[in-house]
Amino acid sequence: VSHVNAVIYARISSDRGVSIEGLGVARQVEDCRALAVARGWTVVEEFIDNDVSASTGKSRPAYERMIEAFRGRRANGLVVWDLDRLTRQPRELEDFIDLADSYKVELASVGGEIDLGTEQGRMLARMKGNLAKYEVEQQSRRLKRKFLERAQEGKPHGKVAYGYRREPVLGDDGRIIDTVEVLHEAQAEVVRECTRRLLAGESVRRIVADLNAREVPTPRGHLWDGTMLRQVLRRQRNAGRRVHRGVVVGKGAWPPLLDEDTFDRVQALLSDPSRRTTRGNEVQHLLSGIARCGIEGCDGVMRVTLGRMNGGKQAPTSYNCRKCYRIRRKKADVDAVVERVVVARLSRPDGPDLLAGDPELLASARAAADTIRARLNLAADKFAGGEIDGDQLARITASLRPQLDARETEVRAASPAREFDRFAGREIAASWAEAELEVRRAVIARLMTVTLMPTGSGGTFDPASVQIKWSSSRDEL
Ligand SMILES: [Zn+2]
Repeated sequence: VSHVNAVIYARISSDRGVSIEGLGVARQVEDCRALAVARGWTVVEEFIDNDVSASTGKSRPAYERMIEAFRGRRANGLVVWDLDRLTRQPRELEDFIDLADSYKVELASVGGEIDLGTEQGRMLARMKGNLAKYEVEQQSRRLKRKFLERAQEGKPHGKVAYGYRREPVLGDDGRIIDTVEVLHEAQAEVVRECTRRLLAGESVRRIVADLNAREVPTPRGHLWDGTMLRQVLRRQRNAGRRVHRGVVVGKGAWPPLLDEDTFDRVQALLSDPSRRTTRGNEVQHLLSGIARCGIEGCDGVMRVTLGRMNGGKQAPTSYNCRKCYRIRRKKADVDAVVERVVVARLSRPDGPDLLAGDPELLASARAAADTIRARLNLAADKFAGGEIDGDQLARITASLRPQLDARETEVRAASPAREFDRFAGREIAASWAEAELEVRRAVIARLMTVTLMPTGSGGTFDPASVQIKWSSSRDEL
């Protein structure tokens, strides 16, 4: 038997819980050196992969170099701590067995002798490999299962969210056995305050400016901006809902910051396209982004063009279709027509009802939404349990998601809009006149669609070219 020039291969495991936990690479190498000495082998090189899992199939640079060392016949022996350090994928093991055959590589492992040169040794190695693969799969299933269980129990996952802090739960022996989330009162109050102000008609921009002026700390201690505030206000968890893989799967085990109605109304407000303002433009207009273009097949959205000085004459500010540019109407004329119609409609005895929501529709839409959420939940369950694969889950989610969105839209439409309470039991014209622009815009967007129809050649304004269609079926005009 010729002399064995051996290499040592060691790997820091990131497959936690599967193999010997915390087995430092220094220990591995030390044991391997001792084994090489015991067998009378010369160690010519040591290859160490840091924090790389053998199961993920990611490249292991030191492993590759080791293979090259055998191919280059610089070594003909290998010492590992255990076979699972070397490979956890059966395919890779077969490759290694082929290589060991071709280059007559001898293998020694601290965890037991496996001679890849014999059929028995190979079978043992394969069994070990399959066992390792099985363990890895189990491990990943266990983890998925754990996350799903936590979700189903409504337990939080990940970082603690703004508005909450995490408190340890102690066992009888005084050790920490779990954590619970409780309200962070100061932060919770910020969320509630912003919600209230938003529903009262204030703009995100104004609230953000105020928070920064008062030096209210953000989740990460920087300055507030609109995106961050929206993110904070849009978290389903604020209403006590637990989200798993982007889907609400049930009630959270933490106290809600807001009641569900209030939360849903804020979502409606934040997702309302008519609220989206043009960037950096402080000036808002009654119908910009709300009124639509009446040119056949256009359906563009109206924006405001500010009146410019033109040959010493001030051109009037106007609504202008930003898609086809074929509709242009003086803003003051259009606003006057729409406001007159809204005030007249709200002044009728049943006017305030239009803003009161529809409890029956609300209940049925909520129930339907819950059913769809339960189906999504079931699909996530099946995925975690290995009954369906990721593609199937994606397909199921893709078909259910739009249905859920539609139901949620219904929920929003049927919810009472308490920010419009001021219109109840008062003289409408007066409360309309003093309502903030955002509130007036929200009322219009809720009650009607405004379309600016084309008219003949120029000339005088025709009020009939402002087409108003009521959203409620009771108001076919
Ligand atoms: Zn148009």
